[in-house]
Amino acid sequence: MEFSKTGYQTLLETALDAGYRFIHFDNTLHLKQGKCCLLRHDVDVDIGAALEIAKVESVLGIRSTFFLMLRSPLYNLMGRSNSRIVQEIVHLGHRIGLHYDDGFCLDKRYSLEEWICLESRILEKMFGVEIKAVSFHQPSQAILSGKMKLNNYVNTYNKKELDGFYYVSDSNKVWKVENPYNIFQKELYSKVHLLIHPLWWIGDYNLPTEDVWEQMIVSNFYRSQKQLLETERAYGHAREITISKTSVCC
Ligand SMILES: [Zn+2]
Repeated sequence: MEFSKTGYQTLLETALDAGYRFIHFDNTLHLKQGKCCLLRHDVDVDIGAALEIAKVESVLGIRSTFFLMLRSPLYNLMGRSNSRIVQEIVHLGHRIGLHYDDGFCLDKRYSLEEWICLESRILEKMFGVEIKAVSFHQPSQAILSGKMKLNNYVNTYNKKELDGFYYVSDSNKVWKVENPYNIFQKELYSKVHLLIHPLWWIGDYNLPTEDVWEQMIVSNFYRSQKQLLETERAYGHAREITISKTSVCC
């Protein structure tokens, strides 16, 4: 299976042909019989890639949940162009969740749940949505143990809440156990939790993962630069900056 937009479309069509329904994270407790898929996107790098994925799903009548970061080092959700992109994803009918960076806590004024609540409220107010689920970015061992329960949100790593769902992720373009195409085609599991990172499917699929990262960073940068050129009066005369890379010794 190819990591490309067409490959992604084929994967989803295979699931639909096999009779899988696409559901949301707050629907897992009252499931009726039948095959279903929780389709989750952790948006780590590029919100533009997320929109591309959202459009592919929308054409097929599929709705999923896009988990967005408020403290991403790469994209600013409050910036004009990125805000518009999120709005478009919402208008396509998709859900928004919080992708929370557990590895950094500014200070101990608030508990983890309070920080999550604060970030979720910001997303809710900004985009007129309701945040019902949280996924953790680079989760700690405590979270990976699957026991952490959040009072107000579904935790996508909580084993009890997602009991019975077979988890499969495209992390670094590697399917660790089973390729989801096989899962859907052979109907190996009736309940599937599928994590898709948009960048792997929208970037050039011939490139290694490091190069895809760079492609996405550049695409983010050019979107920011476009906004600067269009709206920032203090920027001075119109000019373009390009990004180049050098190796770094640690
Ligand atoms: Zn992440």
